[in-house]
Amino acid sequence: MVLDIQSIREQFPILDRKVFGKPLIYLDNTATTQTPRPVVDAITDMYFNHKANVHRGVHTLSQEATALLEETREAVAQFIGADRKEDIIFTRGTTESINLVAASYGQLLEEGDEIILSAMEHHSNIVPWQLIAVRKGLKINVIPMNDRCELDMDAYRKLFTPKTKIVAVTHVSNVLGTINPVKEIIAEAHRHGAVALIDGAQAIAHMPVNVREIDADFYVFSSHKMYGPTGVGVLYGKEAILEKMPPYQGGGEMIKKVSFQKTVFAGLPFKFEAGTPDFVGIAAFAKAIAFIKEAGIEAIGAHEEALLNYVTPKLLEIPGLKIYGNAPHKSAVISFLIGESHPYDTGMLLDKLGIAVRTGHHCAQPLMDILGITGTVRASFAIYNTVGECDALVAATRRVASMLG
Ligand code: PLP
Repeated sequence: MVLDIQSIREQFPILDRKVFGKPLIYLDNTATTQTPRPVVDAITDMYFNHKANVHRGVHTLSQEATALLEETREAVAQFIGADRKEDIIFTRGTTESINLVAASYGQLLEEGDEIILSAMEHHSNIVPWQLIAVRKGLKINVIPMNDRCELDMDAYRKLFTPKTKIVAVTHVSNVLGTINPVKEIIAEAHRHGAVALIDGAQAIAHMPVNVREIDADFYVFSSHKMYGPTGVGVLYGKEAILEKMPPYQGGGEMIKKVSFQKTVFAGLPFKFEAGTPDFVGIAAFAKAIAFIKEAGIEAIGAHEEALLNYVTPKLLEIPGLKIYGNAPHKSAVISFLIGESHPYDTGMLLDKLGIAVRTGHHCAQPLMDILGITGTVRASFAIYNTVGECDALVAATRRVASMLG
């Protein structure tokens, strides 16, 4: 199916904005995607018509709010092919989902146990593991990359020892765009009796994800990177594993019975959802999933891939421009540098031309160290980007390159 990009764009009022008098060209979709009207309308509708705390009220508003939240849970489960909605835990985002698993599953580990991460992880899939590693005396091993910035699968297989308990790897690199062979990575972890967490933050809005098909033990992502509200994230986990894990936080909602002598925890998913969740955001999140489903995730992926294939050779014609991340299997994320110039200067000049790109280390400093650079300029694409915007990016980058010498 070919997308009608113009009518899709009309659902995103922000795309009509001007920046420095130029039409906004938003290419910072890896950091966060923009939000279509139905999602914002759903937030307003919650506040104006259904706002009441969830799961605790007999009154009508509370029941409506609860139903809307639980409908989203069902929609998420269906979207990622999970068996049961109870295995979907709402968090504040990918970061909190990973912290939850590291802190909780980490308690089941013993001194000397090992964790495998990859060279291309976001800080949020590194630091939570370091925190638990220090507390429990665990060892972290890292999968290296080859020249094309793909994970070295032979090296990965050699990292396993009888002590390896967890593999935590990103589905798609937020810097390189590399799409990792997660099914193979998970299967290898399982062969060694380890569990696998996949950071799906950069995959979920760009390609079909089926947690059962890849056999993920944990899969995590953020709503705001998939056209949804901020402050909402998902942790999917396999029931048998989640059942074994201790709670992450204590408080209301996550208990069956509390006394000063003993507390009995609630079942899944509530055991991991202490306190009032962002029920407004979660309710509106269902509209983001509906938006993606209406366009079709395959069609979105194909559109973004076409933009990537169109713009990459054109950018490479610019003298001195180098792209970091050349995996044949990559998503529409382009990290680049122009000669010796600082990414910040490029980003600032592009902003003056109305083009929003991100600059810096992209929360992947270990990856920057491996690449021998301090940062890149990153252009990342989403459903609403156009070939015309690609041309504008190329023209503006060419102009910036000549200004920076
Ligand atoms: N993992 C990856 C691969 C990311 O790209 C990001 C954000 O850019 C995160 C995790 C963290 O997501 P959040 O800040 O929504 O928790």
